[in-house]
Order: sequence, then structure tokens, then C-alpha cells
Amino acid sequence: MPELPEVETIRRGLERNLSGATIVAVDVREPRLRRVVDRRALGALVGRRIGSIGRRAKYLLVDVGDGLVWLMHLGMSGRLLLVPEDEPAAEHEHVRVDFDGPLTLRYRDPRRFGWMRVARREELDELAGLGPEPLERRFAGARLHEWLRGTRRDIKAALLDQRVVAGIGNIYANEILFLAGVRPTRRCHRVRRSELDAIARATRRVLREAVARRGTSFSDYFDSDGIPGTFQDVLAVFDRAGEPCRTCATPIKRRPQGGRSSFYCPRCQS
Ligand SMILES: [Zn+2]
Repeated sequence: MPELPEVETIRRGLERNLSGATIVAVDVREPRLRRVVDRRALGALVGRRIGSIGRRAKYLLVDVGDGLVWLMHLGMSGRLLLVPEDEPAAEHEHVRVDFDGPLTLRYRDPRRFGWMRVARREELDELAGLGPEPLERRFAGARLHEWLRGTRRDIKAALLDQRVVAGIGNIYANEILFLAGVRPTRRCHRVRRSELDAIARATRRVLREAVARRGTSFSDYFDSDGIPGTFQDVLAVFDRAGEPCRTCATPIKRRPQGGRSSFYCPRCQS
């Protein structure tokens, strides 16, 4: 599932290739994504020019002029690929957008949990209530302290809560907690303030490195040029159950937590 580093990598690829391009055709082949795509609203993109391409949490926000934003979310398995216009449609290709240049944008999504829509920026209720961007300066231990003080849920669930911090999913939550030396099952009210500071620092460090490595690819994530990321090569704990900790050689443990797998080093995260 694409998290902040993967979406940011895709954003950069789209910006590099599409900034300033004019949309000449939109074809919604399958509107039934997580929400039904409004064909008419998307079709109204024709003739519009791509301005800045931003990101908020895991949302891509394409400025198309007059205050309108083309919002996209990749859900679990969505992919945005830039391919030559004569490339035939692939399986699960639900939306195709053509530009006044040689590349077309294809939205492919086998599980169809992603979606897209066009709306005025102030109408984007998806963005209301999202927590701070973890790569921004204002995301710090103080923010975590403010939100988590007195709560008894576990720290990993808190990191996955998009209202606390935006854009983190299961892979990076595990990696962040390893780097901070905090076990995923610790209850928030028992996590010390100094540990929250360490978690905030680890968050920035892990996400920055993951963006530099263009995200994590297991089987289904590729950027808009079809290139996999390389952060999977340096994962400390995620998907490494039974393998030696890179710091202390203790076997990494895996346990179910909140419907997902948590990975941790029982020694480094005691
Ligand atoms: Zn260890």
C-alpha cells in the first residue's frame, strides 16, 4: 500500500513530466473505484493546463487552474503510470488521461480502493482533520505529546492515525519505532516525553531516507516511470521476522497487532 514516500515519489515523477501540459482527453473506463468517479467532472479537465502538483498525506493534488484541484488517492493497489500514447490498455486500467505531449497517464488499480475527483480546493473535505505533515518542522515530539497524552491505545496505532500524523502506514510505522527504540505495543500514556521526541526524529529520518530511495517496493509499487523503489533493501524490521537485527543480531519478532503485523527487535525495543 503506497505510503507517504511512495506518493511523494510519484508526485515528483508527475511534476517532472506533466507540469505545464494541457489535458486533451480523459477516458474513465471503470468509474467504480472506492467511490464512483464523476465522469462529467473528470471530463471537464479537457482543455485545462496542469499547474503545480502537490501532496497532502497520501493524496495527490493537481492544480488545474481557477481554484480547481484534481485529487487522486491510490488506495491499496493504485498505480499512476506515464506511458507512450500507443501503449495498449493494461488489465485493471480504469482511467486514461492524454496530454498535448507524447505521454499518457494511466490509472491502474486491481483492488479499486483508490479514487479521484475534481473539486474546488475548499471543497476537499478529505483533507480536513489530517494531522501535520511529518516532514515539516512543526511535526515534533510536542505534537505527539499533545495528542497522545493520557491515551491508552498503543503507540503504533497512534502513528497510523492520520489525525495524529499524516501519511504513515504499516511499513514506516514499524521502521520508525525500531529507530526510536520503542516497542510497537507500548501504551501511549507510558511512553516518556523523551521517547516521543525520539519518535518524531525517527519519523523524519525514516521518511526522508525512504523518499531519497524512491519508496519501498515488494511486488506492486512502482513509480510513474515504472521503476521500483529501493527502501526494501534497508528495512530494519518490516517483513524480517526471524532474521537477525541489524544492530544486535537478535531475531526480529513479528506479532499481529490491530489487524496488521508488527515487527520489532525484542532487545533494541525493550
Ligand atoms: Zn536489536
